[in-house]
Amino acid sequence: MKKTLPFTAQQLTEIKTTYPTPFYLYDEKGLRAHARKFKQAFSILPGFKEYFAVKATPNPFIMKVLKEEGFGADCSSIAELLLSEQIDVLGEDIMFTSNDTEQDEYIKARELGAIINLDDIRHIDYLEHTLESHGGLPELLCFRYNPGPLREGNAIIGDPKEAKYGFTREQLFEGYKLCQQKGVKRFGLHTMIISNELNPDFFVETASMLFELAVELKEQLGIKLKFVNLGGGIGVPYLPGEKAVDYDYVAQQVMQEYQRLIIANDLDPLKIYMECGRVIAGPYGYLITDVIHMKYTYKDYVGTNATMANLMRPALYGSYHHISVMGKEDQAESHCYDVTGSLCENNDKFAIDRQLPEISEGDTLAIHDAGAHGHSMGFNYNGKLRSAELLLREDNSVLQIRRAETLDDYFVTLDFNQLQTFK
Ligand SMILES: *Cc1c(COP(=O)(O)O)cnc(C)c1O
Repeated sequence: MKKTLPFTAQQLTEIKTTYPTPFYLYDEKGLRAHARKFKQAFSILPGFKEYFAVKATPNPFIMKVLKEEGFGADCSSIAELLLSEQIDVLGEDIMFTSNDTEQDEYIKARELGAIINLDDIRHIDYLEHTLESHGGLPELLCFRYNPGPLREGNAIIGDPKEAKYGFTREQLFEGYKLCQQKGVKRFGLHTMIISNELNPDFFVETASMLFELAVELKEQLGIKLKFVNLGGGIGVPYLPGEKAVDYDYVAQQVMQEYQRLIIANDLDPLKIYMECGRVIAGPYGYLITDVIHMKYTYKDYVGTNATMANLMRPALYGSYHHISVMGKEDQAESHCYDVTGSLCENNDKFAIDRQLPEISEGDTLAIHDAGAHGHSMGFNYNGKLRSAELLLREDNSVLQIRRAETLDDYFVTLDFNQLQTFK
């Protein structure tokens, strides 16, 4: 299957007259249409809610679009909480899933009324102490479960028993009991053990695992959980021809397990939450870059004006991101290239040994599926500046939703005046 683009070469040329490359371009129409499809498929699950994982695309305009589509926000830091506050996503529309957490983060989460999801049993006392003069423990708490050797992870997130996140099984029971004693009234259960997974059965197994725990919690502690959060981790079919997760299938299978375990054990209404980031925004963002140099040495190189500081997934994980050469979409992929950036790092490559149409200087490349964990993972190594983010609206107009960094932004934390007297 061919990867398509929601804009034409002509449209990009026009956009480039106002906004210099590199920039991120998000497709609002695609983002909304997919969000509706996602929500519709999972709406057969009781109380279903998706909390968009803000770290994937921490731009308040994107978040606002997703809010309009009915999504909450999954936050993991104070900055992400502040972004949610900016767009009026508040209270239990926020899940706060952090680890190794600072006190000010818990205080902000409590102030916003977010659902606090604890990463460790020792955080119960830490939270209680932290919130002493901030309203005390909330009446709703959630714990993150790490099944350790009971489940296998995948390459991106790793083996659960090697993962720093979450409570062990024993700690979960201990933790709920302790919080019951401390007067916490309502409880949730969360896990996040997979990332970029395309096997739909994995999500069903995760639901079964949490439902079974819900049954045990009722039997052992008399707790009726209010919700389980299956986490995020639904994969993006980055490679042409890869198959997207069938949401209807997952929803139907999870519902069967819900009937078998939750309804049969009189545990309903138990709400089902998810917190996907990648699959929600990933396919609807493109990194647009111009070819500034061609180079022919032991290999053929395409030198772009973007770098891994704009999109580090290929360098970090060896990830595949499809590349379209604008205006040459229908030409034969007759040439083999490494597509590179300018960092003084040889892994600064968007593609290695990629078959593409013949490229020349001045061509524009669209790097696909960069909408999640793309711009947000950017950094300033070699003094490279973060790019702008643009939103392609449903009426084909373009809105700049984040300007590009300038050199002044880059230098703002330095005091050059102090340099005059420094010796
Ligand atoms: C990163 C993260 C997510 C989102 O993961 P995706 O792979 O983008 O769906 C959800 N929950 C937690 C706790 C995370 O850390």
